[in-house]
Parts: sequence; structure tokens; C-alpha cells
Amino acid sequence: MPENTLRHLPSIDLLLRRAALQRLSAEAGRETVRDRLREVLDELRRDLRSGSVPDASALPDPAEHLALEIERRLAGRFAQREQAGTQRVINATGVILHTNLGRAPLSRSALAAISRVAGGYCNLEYDLTTGRRGKRGTGLAAILKELLGSEAAAVVNNCAAAVLITLNTLAEGGEVIISRGELIEIGGSFRIPDVIAKSGARIREVGTTNRTRLSDYEKAINENTRLILRAHPSNYRIIGFTERPSLADLVSLGRRHNLPVFEDLGSGCLTDLSPYGITDEPTVTDALKAGVSVLSFSGDKLLGGPQAGIILGAAALVERIKSNPLMRALRVDKLTFAALEATISSHARGQATAEIPILAALNASREEIARRARSFLRRAGKLSGAFELKLTDGDSVIGGGTTPEAKLPTRLITLKTPQASADQLEEWLRHHSPPVIVRIVEDQVAFDLRTVAPEEEGELIAALGALSRRLEDFATRRLAENV
Ligand SMILES: *Cc1c(COP(=O)(O)O)cnc(C)c1O
Repeated sequence: MPENTLRHLPSIDLLLRRAALQRLSAEAGRETVRDRLREVLDELRRDLRSGSVPDASALPDPAEHLALEIERRLAGRFAQREQAGTQRVINATGVILHTNLGRAPLSRSALAAISRVAGGYCNLEYDLTTGRRGKRGTGLAAILKELLGSEAAAVVNNCAAAVLITLNTLAEGGEVIISRGELIEIGGSFRIPDVIAKSGARIREVGTTNRTRLSDYEKAINENTRLILRAHPSNYRIIGFTERPSLADLVSLGRRHNLPVFEDLGSGCLTDLSPYGITDEPTVTDALKAGVSVLSFSGDKLLGGPQAGIILGAAALVERIKSNPLMRALRVDKLTFAALEATISSHARGQATAEIPILAALNASREEIARRARSFLRRAGKLSGAFELKLTDGDSVIGGGTTPEAKLPTRLITLKTPQASADQLEEWLRHHSPPVIVRIVEDQVAFDLRTVAPEEEGELIAALGALSRRLEDFATRRLAENV
């Protein structure tokens, strides 16, 4: 039977002459289309032989039927490839620091700074005062010192790199003391015990999962000890019967034994978040005030800048870190420096909430979001009767491994239709251009405008328009089939 259908498969040359394929060839190149076409034909032959595609030989025009199937498969392949490239998406999930969606969107001033240095030459390693070779990051270190009072700074590719290079520089060949309550996994294979092992240091666990005392640290100190590590538990919390020494106590223990204390803060919060009900996120200033020798945090979490790992601390230690040969492998480029300087300058000018998108999103009240959502509904309401849009209370989350329990009250727009499941709607929106990423809350697609920029609302309405046309098409076709 399949042989009957296989006979009708059009040749590659015949297919390439069809209008749809000519269009595709003009866009993607004839050779690429020919190669993909071969793949699609092989695949279709296999499917016909295995019976997973029904026999078409009895149809009025089997060749045309097969050609259309081939076109559909080919378009799917090209679309898939296009979707795999890095592209902008609309984040309607309400997760402010969504690691899968690129974490922090950059501020306008960071974008402007990138474009100023990206298209030409810049003084990345050139000292304009002396006209001689300069050092990367001198400007950034100066801004950080002014803002936070840190003695010295180093910047690497991300916070994971910051932890790795710090441990490797200060503890290779020796022991690192850490509480069992802080042997954490942040995600994406960043596990503290593994990173310590990769740094060439040995882990010395102390205390228990829920309680670790200063005396536990003190008892573990021996002639091989190089460093005391404190890791912020970021994306999880130990609650109930818990105890851990204050950072100040750890610092004085370190001083008594001449050992550096290194705190991996992760989120790098510069501002007090208690106005938003977040009281357990330590700030960089707190850590510096407590007197830690070195600390590290991400550039693209609560700082709201580009991906980077920032190391602050005592000049002598930071200088040693900077002269580690690993630095060359982990350093960042001019674009990152430009964006970081601009982001930190927003903090320094007291304009962080106004200028940095993730802080503006964090700062938006439920009432502000409700107002935007109501106006959105008025505009989108005209679209169609194909689905129902409603407002409901919900929560946004910070994400990015920051304060897992903190929930920010928000107003969600939910979307419902008897014609498609929430999963189906979610998939259609994801395949829209630009893709719209949503959450499913209680079996309904939900949009949270907290993470949607006001300029993106028009595109979101356009996506809903496309969705409603699609649903109407669907309904008409179903009607026609039933007649
Ligand atoms: C997020 C986090 C990291 C990893 O930071 P990246 O910048 O994603 O590499 C390391 N440590 C802690 C405590 C974190 O929260």
C-alpha cells in the first residue's frame, strides 16, 4: 500500500518550482532549502512506509496532497530553527528575574552606554590620563568604592565564576569551612560542594542542616584551614528550629585566627527591600559593614544589570584574585563594563527604581498594576467574543534564586475559551512573534503586567488579536465539518 503513495511523491526539482518554496528559497537560500527538502522527503518516506502517515493514493490528487504535506513540514523545520535563535520575548509570567528569560532587562542608560562603546574603540585597557596601558575595570571599581565603601573590586563572567576564582585564589590546597546548612545548589549545576572541589580546596563541613554555632566553626579550624565560607541560601529557606552565627561573629572569629571570611551573597541587593515585605535579603552594605574580607554577587539579579560576577573586599585579597591566571579566562568584555557602570551609576544617583526595569517592576504596587490591567482589558475587550478575559488577584515572584517565599500581590489577566485548553493557548502564544511567555494559574492562562513593559502592551494586544482570529477560524472549520 505505501508503495502506491510513494509513487506520487513529487521530485525535488518539481517541489522547488512551487511558489511557497520559491519564496522560502529567496529568504533562506536555494541550497539550504534543497538540503532541508531532502531531509523532509526522507522523513516522509519513512512515515509512509511505517504507516504513521495514511495512504493517499485514493485521493483525487495524491501528488498535490503530498506536496502540501511536504511544504507544511518544511515550514515547521524553518520555524523551529528560527525559534532556536536568541530573540526578544514578552515575559508575562510575573517572574521578575526569570533565569530562563535572561534575568534582568537592562536600563535605557545601560543600553545607551553599550551602544556608545560597542560600535567603536574605547579605553577598556587604556589610561587616558597618562596615555599608557591601563587596567580593565578601574572606573567601575571607583564607582563601587564611592557608592559602597568597598576597598577594591574585580569583575568576572558571573557569580559562579566569582566564587570559583575567589576560592581557588585564597584556599587552593587547603580547607574551606562551611556550615552544613549552606551546602546549597543554586540550579544549573552550581553546587557549593562541587565548586569548592573544582577550586582545588577541600570542604570542611560543620554543624547540622538546621543549626550551626560559632563553636562548630572554631573547633574545625586547624593548620590547613584557609578560609571561612558563608553562602546565602538564595532559593530555599530553613525555617523553625534554626541557628547560625551572625556575620559579625564569624568575622571576629576569622580575625582571631587570621583567616579570611568570604560571603557569597548571590543576589547582590544594594537597597533595603523591607518596604516590599522582603526582610531576609542581606544587602551588600550589611556584609561590608560586618567586615567580611571578600564578598561576591551577580550583576543580573537584584542589581538589575548585565550578567557578571562582582567581587568586593580587602585590596590585598582582591589584588591576589585579579592576578590569578584564571582571571584571563573569566574576565568580562567592554560591553559588560559599560552596562555595569551605567547600572551602578543609577544606584549611585538614587535613580535605581526609576531607571532599572527590575526595580521598577518590584516597586509597582498592586493598585498600579490593577490600573494598567483594567485599561488593557478595555483595549483588548473589543477583540472578539472568542475568549473571555478577566481580572483576578494573584502573586508575582522575584525569582532568580532570590527570597523564594516573598510574594508580591498583583492583578492577573486570565484568558479562557471553551475551544482550547490552557496548554494549547500557552503554546500558541509561545509560537507568536514576538513569543509571549505566560504562566498557567488554576488551569487558566494568566498574564501578569508587572513584567510587561508598557511599550509591550500593544504587542500583547496584537498577539491576543491573532489568537482570537485563530480561534474563530477553528470554530468556522469545526462548524463546516459538522454540516
Ligand atoms: C545565583 C547565585 C550564584 C550564581 O550566580 P550566577 O551569576 O548565576 O553565576 C551563586 N551563589 C549564590 C548564593 C547565588 O544566589
